[in-house]
Amino acid sequence: MAMNKVPGHNIYVGGIFSLKNKAALARANVTHVLSVIRLQPTDDTFSGYQHHHIEVDDLEDENLLEHFTSAIKFIQSGLDAGGSVLVHCAMGKSRSATVCIAYLLRRQRSVLTPQSALALLRESRPLCEPNPGFMEQLNVYHQMGCPDDVTSHPLYSRWLYHRDVEESVACGRAPEMESVLFEDEQPQQRADLTTPATEIKCRKCRRKLAIAPFVVPHGVHGDAKAAITSECAHIFMSPLTWMRPSLFPQTPGEAPLSGRLTCPNTSCGSNIGKFAWQGMQCSCGDWVVPAIGLARARVDISEPVTIRRGPGLPSGIRLPPNMRPNIGGFGANLENER
Ligand SMILES: [Zn+2]
Ligand SMILES: [Zn+2]
Repeated sequence: MAMNKVPGHNIYVGGIFSLKNKAALARANVTHVLSVIRLQPTDDTFSGYQHHHIEVDDLEDENLLEHFTSAIKFIQSGLDAGGSVLVHCAMGKSRSATVCIAYLLRRQRSVLTPQSALALLRESRPLCEPNPGFMEQLNVYHQMGCPDDVTSHPLYSRWLYHRDVEESVACGRAPEMESVLFEDEQPQQRADLTTPATEIKCRKCRRKLAIAPFVVPHGVHGDAKAAITSECAHIFMSPLTWMRPSLFPQTPGEAPLSGRLTCPNTSCGSNIGKFAWQGMQCSCGDWVVPAIGLARARVDISEPVTIRRGPGLPSGIRLPPNMRPNIGGFGANLENER
């Protein structure tokens, strides 16, 4: 099949054979060729063209997302120079379509979604169909806000982490500790840690275990608050630093696929929940993958503290300057202690 023009842009999508038709390329004023394919170019296929090569296979678990930045930059440079750009893979169906959709999203991020950009592409080339893994990557890219720099975006690290867990679990293994994203160690999260937030504490020793931003919503609970106040037997969490000894015991051998979560206060050591990298079904029926669940019966929830002062202030709690109490007479610790 011949190459097709992306509506509204001097960009063409095609398969490997569109490279052979030099006359058609010349008629379309193609000056730049972007190859999204694993191939060893022979002879002079690309001579006379600016060429950029992204070596990926058309597989769902292939990371095309990390190449969006360079691909879009290359396409833009061709258009800015007044030429046309051919984006090709083997069939002009999945890989090349994905890159063109990424470009369209970047240009019109507030108007287009991955689905509507695909619909636009199909107006001229109905066979375009990114594989499900690439569609997911386009969704992640769109959620990020189509940034210049994809790989340093926090959502990228999170996507990589989930991808790694999926791959490990598919092989019956826990992920490597190095690939696990401990949310409280992420630079963008540190600033949040000083904002008052709902706290989750060990019921037995009252050691603070987590705050609301680290709760993973699931099922019908669209946000952390709903997930915390739900009737579900577990509150699901992102991996946190204190969980390391439970998730990755120092014993020789592989880390367990599932196990118990133990209170990080060594003089307490209560069993406070469980984890399963392969996921587990919550009491509400929803599956959570990976699942790191604090048992609701083993923890206490305290509401965000806005005013607190006096001798009741527990040690270790720091309030940001603008939250420090300046009203006299409120000696009470307003925290919802149980
Ligand atoms: Zn405890
Ligand atoms: Zn649930």
